[in-house]
Amino acid sequence: MAKGAIYRDEAVVLRTYKLGEADRIIVMVTKGRGKVRAVAKGVRKTRSKFGSRLEPTSHIAVQLYEGRELDIVTQAETIDQHRAIRDDLDLITRASAMLEAVDQLAQEGEVNPRLFQMLVGALRTLDGTESPLVVPSFFWKVLSLEGYRPEVDVCVQCGDDGPLVAFDIESGGTLCRTCRRGTAVSAEAVVLLQQILGGRLNEALAEPVSPATHEVDHLATRAVEYHLERRLRSVTVLDSH
Ligand SMILES: [Zn+2]
Repeated sequence: MAKGAIYRDEAVVLRTYKLGEADRIIVMVTKGRGKVRAVAKGVRKTRSKFGSRLEPTSHIAVQLYEGRELDIVTQAETIDQHRAIRDDLDLITRASAMLEAVDQLAQEGEVNPRLFQMLVGALRTLDGTESPLVVPSFFWKVLSLEGYRPEVDVCVQCGDDGPLVAFDIESGGTLCRTCRRGTAVSAEAVVLLQQILGGRLNEALAEPVSPATHEVDHLATRAVEYHLERRLRSVTVLDSH
């Protein structure tokens, strides 16, 4: 039996896919309910009033009807369409990396308003600045939120405060000359990591593209992949019991 309740929430559309002839499944992360998968009926058949509002990156106020298996989108109002992102292939690619990470991290039925706010903030920043560090900063912040904040102020092995010359994802942070392993990092990249993770994000976001921003970007992507893989494995282990 359908529960039949109607609820409203704020959401960011992560991805959509076809269902049957005319419908579309909308995967979104919501402020109040975590990840939600819902059906938008008839959006592919006609020029639906809300079909165009339900595109990836869209920040929407949405009304849903609790269905037996899937909820149904009954209304959607645009809060921010992020048109600048959608009109730019490079920005779309960068936004997609964040949407994909959130899609994999957010669970259905697991409320995480902080993750939602961070995504909304990062999309807005991506929409409004030229910074090469929007996505990597988002990744480092998300990892911290998930409990995997790396050590970037001292050597994660011996506690020495420098110079820090390497970063090892498995060890969980930066390393000194004596303990070095993992990836070599420049002093400039270490400073950027310290800014991002130490409450000075705006300073990092003001940096133009440089070899150091590339280093931070590369490390962030690998750290997120490492974390997601490990989590996937732990879920598999849990499921097998
Ligand atoms: Zn050390």
